Amino acid sequence: MTTLAAAAAEIRERIAAAARQAGRDPADVTLVAVSKTQPAELVRAAAEAGLADFGENRVEEAVPKMRAVARAGLRWHMIGHVQSRKAPDVIAADFSLIHSVDSLKLAERLSRFAAAAGRTQPVLLECNVSGEAAKSGFAGADPAGWAPLLETFGALLALPGVQVRGLMTMAPFGTDHVTARPVFARLRALRDAARARWPRAEWGALSMGMTDDFEGAIAEGATLVRVGRAIFGERG
Ligand SMILES: *Cc1c(COP(=O)(O)O)cnc(C)c1O
Repeated sequence: MTTLAAAAAEIRERIAAAARQAGRDPADVTLVAVSKTQPAELVRAAAEAGLADFGENRVEEAVPKMRAVARAGLRWHMIGHVQSRKAPDVIAADFSLIHSVDSLKLAERLSRFAAAAGRTQPVLLECNVSGEAAKSGFAGADPAGWAPLLETFGALLALPGVQVRGLMTMAPFGTDHVTARPVFARLRALRDAARARWPRAEWGALSMGMTDDFEGAIAEGATLVRVGRAIFGERG
């Protein structure tokens, strides 16, 4: 087995163990292999090893890589901040899921270009539930501010061309899965509040957890974990 295949197998095992420990079905947690900065050959090797979901954070890097890998059955995820002016490129790239819709303005731009292309783009709403000032996302650290936030979500749900599937967050950098867990619990609570306010929308997806903290995220209900370094090694 290659190093990459062994690393992928180990992460799958840890995901399954964390899911079982939480009384969840391991099949309900999708591993998104974060391939940002990694060359197309490595992504191809990862696909050979059975990985099917890949996460990229820059559209200008992702598009040539998607073309170069060109394998059927792969799903590409946009996980990085999207500038509004890049909205047409991101829609044209046809990602399976955009995790990082972090403003109503961006959602409106994506909506416009997706609707013009006759597409419905699945998206997640990125929320800053840790309260770190440097982090992008809808401000959701303080539950006292959730009522107006949920009204913003309502405006987003009404947009044509984008379909909200759930929420995404990033825990503070450098925390382990134990310290990050309250942040993940808060995202889940916000999702539950969104579901109570807008019960007809889809809120099933929770994208949370990375190399250092994915087990805590699974314990709190993550359905998508975004893991880079533990699969591909440290980024250059
Ligand atoms: C880079 C990145 C990841 C993966 O981080 P690792 O620590 O390498 O697992 C996950 N999510 C986002 C949004 C990222 O930018």
